[in-house]
Amino acid sequence: MGLLSLGTPLSFTEGEKHVEHVHTRGIADLIKSFKINYDRSNEKFLWGDELEYMLINFNREKKTATLDVEHDYILSNFDEGTEKYKTKCVPNDILYHPEYGRFMVEATPLRPYDGDSISDFLYVEKNMAARRKIMIDEIIDVDGDTTNTHQEVIPLSITAFPIMGTKEFTNKVYEANGQASHSLFLPDQIINRHARFPTLTKNIRTRRGSKVAINVPIYPDTHTQPLDEIDHNIPKRDLFFEDSEPFLGAAKPGHIYMDSMGFGMGCSCLQVTMQAPNIDASRYLYDSLLPITPILLSLSAATPIFKGTLADQDVRWNVISNAVDDRTPLERDVKPMENHQDIGGVRPDRRDNLQPIDKSRYDSISSYLGDYDHETKSYKNFKKSFNDLPLPINQSVLDRLTKESDYFDEVMAQHFAHLFIRDPLVVFSEKITDGDSYNDDHFQNIQSTNWQTLRFKPPTAHHHGCLSDTPGWRVEFRPLEIQITDFENAAYSVFLILLSKAILKYKPNFYIPISLIDENMITAHKRNSLGDDKFWYRFKDSNDWDRLSINEIINGNSQFIGLIPLVEKYVSLTFNDVADAQQLEAVSFYLKLIAYRASGKIPTLASYIRQFVMQHPDYKHDSIVSHDINYDLLCHLRGIGDYRDEKALVGLFGEEIGEYLINNRKKRR
Ligand code: ADP
Ligand code: MG
Ligand code: MG
Ligand code: MG
Ligand code: MG
Ligand code: MG
Repeated sequence: MGLLSLGTPLSFTEGEKHVEHVHTRGIADLIKSFKINYDRSNEKFLWGDELEYMLINFNREKKTATLDVEHDYILSNFDEGTEKYKTKCVPNDILYHPEYGRFMVEATPLRPYDGDSISDFLYVEKNMAARRKIMIDEIIDVDGDTTNTHQEVIPLSITAFPIMGTKEFTNKVYEANGQASHSLFLPDQIINRHARFPTLTKNIRTRRGSKVAINVPIYPDTHTQPLDEIDHNIPKRDLFFEDSEPFLGAAKPGHIYMDSMGFGMGCSCLQVTMQAPNIDASRYLYDSLLPITPILLSLSAATPIFKGTLADQDVRWNVISNAVDDRTPLERDVKPMENHQDIGGVRPDRRDNLQPIDKSRYDSISSYLGDYDHETKSYKNFKKSFNDLPLPINQSVLDRLTKESDYFDEVMAQHFAHLFIRDPLVVFSEKITDGDSYNDDHFQNIQSTNWQTLRFKPPTAHHHGCLSDTPGWRVEFRPLEIQITDFENAAYSVFLILLSKAILKYKPNFYIPISLIDENMITAHKRNSLGDDKFWYRFKDSNDWDRLSINEIINGNSQFIGLIPLVEKYVSLTFNDVADAQQLEAVSFYLKLIAYRASGKIPTLASYIRQFVMQHPDYKHDSIVSHDINYDLLCHLRGIGDYRDEKALVGLFGEEIGEYLINNRKKRR
């Protein structure tokens, strides 16, 4: 998750003394990066995915599935420079990264893939399979083989752990009374041991002036507790200042109430980063992918359960958004709760710097970058009127970018001036005393704690070797929910890459007013939005937009070429002559998964999981997902994840894809 600096992290109050320093140095880095990288061109289309796993402790004797907080040693064992990194990660082309949760591991390819190579498209899934296998092997290596004992620890790629925040949801039980989060539900022992993570948690709470408050609508079933009351099970505690907050309005009636960063940053997702040939192409790609973000959020929906309760939504996005919302009441434009300050924990003499900010730092994008042509200094299809959302900016950053550099047109300058409205969340003391900075830490401090649906990643300002050996202008696609099988995760990644390549080749115009994309984001959260709702979308080659179903957007209709046909056209023109039958079959099954989900022929993981719970014999139609149901659900998902449960594979993927997976099972494990 973002930048992992070593050193001593400062409290918010101490770090706040250095806001100006971080902003000033960060912008200096940015200006330098644009200066030295602006004319880079003809870069290869490289790309890579990121997957986040949860280590699940299956206890066959007790019949429990819990989050395991004792196997994070994997990360230090696989750290760069270790023997195991050299012998296990490098030869298998894998890099493991720490994440927010102590129960989490992120993994990426060690080297990015080549987007021009058909064989790399097939290598992705193999790489993903190897990541799991190496984690499992390492646990067995250290703990001994536990397959025939009562406890096993297995990495699963699930978006949210269904019973997180209920009683005893971790393998080792801790009380929720931690100094970092002050949560009523999550012990601090679920947080990564690296000091950055508890400090992040604490600093967000300090700046905001209260605990974060996440409210997800409860799925109303026949025996659900009354929806006009707040959750009856919220503990009444008297340990921290914030303990009364749920009863002062932080907990909403009819909602699942969560009060800590871990509920959001403890979710897993699938991210894809891709490199465009030059800065102009990266801006065009960013803008073209923006209207797709809510569509793919809905199409990857995998999260119908939070805190042991069925939700009346299918995705995680707003949960993380609220879980890291460090805005003060003044910035959120709400009345502070009783005994709370309108400027939260911000220093009183900074009050005049605070402005209304309509979104959390984890949220949807508020401005296009513009499809700029830096030769002619003009935009092609982009119009400034498409940026029709409020865009609070840091005025002094905007002034600097436009005055001190020739490389920022207004729209680009606004993008970064918007990111720099945020305070650094964690400042490391070593970073403010060092003289000349030799890496992008200050820029990354702000950039990597703006967690939005897309991230525009400029190249580094501090290269040491050859400039062309450092990553170029990249776009990161961040809304996707993670799927249970490597097949699905590979399918969503490959679809997105092929779509991006088709966009760069055919140059369609996907622009619609950005406020409509925000409307689509809200729609994408709805239960079964995929089948039931319509989304604003631009008719290709026409100047109009309308509401379309995801089926129409993905598969097309009589007036509109869908995204899958567009990708198929690209594949047949580019790869048909060079690929063998087996390669083309594999790609076609990836596209089938996307097409069939879009048409409703097969379910999303979210609706599949919801059905599983609602049909479970122990389910009491009270929206509650008990620990027993959770155990059966996770065993079931595990059987899908390792392709062993044939009936479930056909249930989730339909006969055609299900049988394909069963027949190819040996290759996939
Ligand atoms: P972050 O968490 O900041 O997004 P990570 O290092 O976790 O960064 O992931 C970055 C992803 O970008 C990885 O999948 C990696 O393979 C990929 N990547 C690395 N270099 C390039 C490049 N030059 N172009 C495109 N993708 C790249
Ligand atoms: Mg991550
Ligand atoms: Mg990462
Ligand atoms: Mg039990
Ligand atoms: Mg990322
Ligand atoms: Mg970054």
